[in-house]
Amino acid sequence: MNLCLVAKKEQLMKDKRFETLAIRTQTDQTNQKEHSTPLFLTSSFTFDTAEQGAALFNGDLEGNQYTRFSNPNTDEFINKLKLLEGTEAGISTASGMAAVFASILPNLKAGDHIVASKAIFGSSVLVISTIFPDYGIDYTLVDVDNNDQWEQAIKKNTKLIFVESPSNPTLKIADLAFLSKLCKANNIIYCVDNCFATPYLQQPNEYDADLIIHSATKYIDGQGRVLGGAILGKKKYVDICYNFLRRTGASLSPFNAWVLSKSLETLAIRMDRHCSNAEKLFQFLEKQEDVLELSYPHSPNHPQYALAKKQMKQGGGLIGCELKGGKERGVRFLNALKLHSLTANLGDTRSIVTHPASTTHTKLSEAEQLEVGITPGFIRFSLGLEHIDDIIEDVKQALVASR
Ligand SMILES: *Cc1c(COP(=O)(O)O)cnc(C)c1O
Repeated sequence: MNLCLVAKKEQLMKDKRFETLAIRTQTDQTNQKEHSTPLFLTSSFTFDTAEQGAALFNGDLEGNQYTRFSNPNTDEFINKLKLLEGTEAGISTASGMAAVFASILPNLKAGDHIVASKAIFGSSVLVISTIFPDYGIDYTLVDVDNNDQWEQAIKKNTKLIFVESPSNPTLKIADLAFLSKLCKANNIIYCVDNCFATPYLQQPNEYDADLIIHSATKYIDGQGRVLGGAILGKKKYVDICYNFLRRTGASLSPFNAWVLSKSLETLAIRMDRHCSNAEKLFQFLEKQEDVLELSYPHSPNHPQYALAKKQMKQGGGLIGCELKGGKERGVRFLNALKLHSLTANLGDTRSIVTHPASTTHTKLSEAEQLEVGITPGFIRFSLGLEHIDDIIEDVKQALVASR
């Protein structure tokens, strides 16, 4: 595309809103004049001349060389997500875990220390607590909602803070502005996993996060089809992640990028429905005698309601729920559900229920489960996009059947 057209396109997209950016950010048309971006299944790209190939490889010329480095589909996906998160740089990854690993490791070295919240995604805890220590990177885990603990955990060699908000699976909220100040004051890289909220509900860039990561496998795909991930943020740090990724190989496949870029077109409208369905199920659960405790970020009963309101546009598509009757009741409730899927995933069109005590966190002792906020009867609802009356009817009959 010539520079004049690029400038025109940039001018057109300037000041456009979230939904429009998610739909109208597209790879340039080919000479077929297709309306929807095609799939570029090619592992490499040709050079017109040997000199052009050399210029591309030594960085004098921008363009595609090899799909591990870049591809029109992965470019479209990441360019879009960059605009949605409002960051200056971004890189797509093969999965959410590739994003976790490749955002942290190349920015640290042996002797450094990480502070992370306890209630983060299971594999993220394991990477930080069982893999990095073998390479000399130490860590401290803190309660996500306890600012004193975050502050006290900072050491001279702390180089990175890693946080998820809302937290998994208990939906506690991190004070993103407080953590930002703490990082700036101590010269620490500020890394936020924004998977649960998505950029539609929360933009860590507003809190000056250095790195924002996603498992695109969840709400971004939203239809339970592909794995994918992304690292976004400041160019200074993302460039380091990019060089690490293009050499070590956890690049996103063009097919998955094509799926994910299409998915982003409907992210806003899907999130609106995930959130409204969650609010309605929450209102139903609030009235049930079977329920001991409920957690939803935008419920006035949430201990961090004001903070959640400030940081998130809506409350999200997940509900935490403690049923009366402990672990056995949790198991009985899951077995009595007819419509809901029993799976460890979240952020799908299909409503999902998970019982961490008997599945995702079963390797932890009961005391360790309590330490991360998982009580024996704790259930996590991931609201899908089915009709809310059908969702509520299924929950209602399973509550009765499991008594
Ligand atoms: C699922 C998940 C991940 C890991 O993503 P994968 O795509 O499964 O590799 C990381 N963080 C959060 C919050 C997640 O939910």
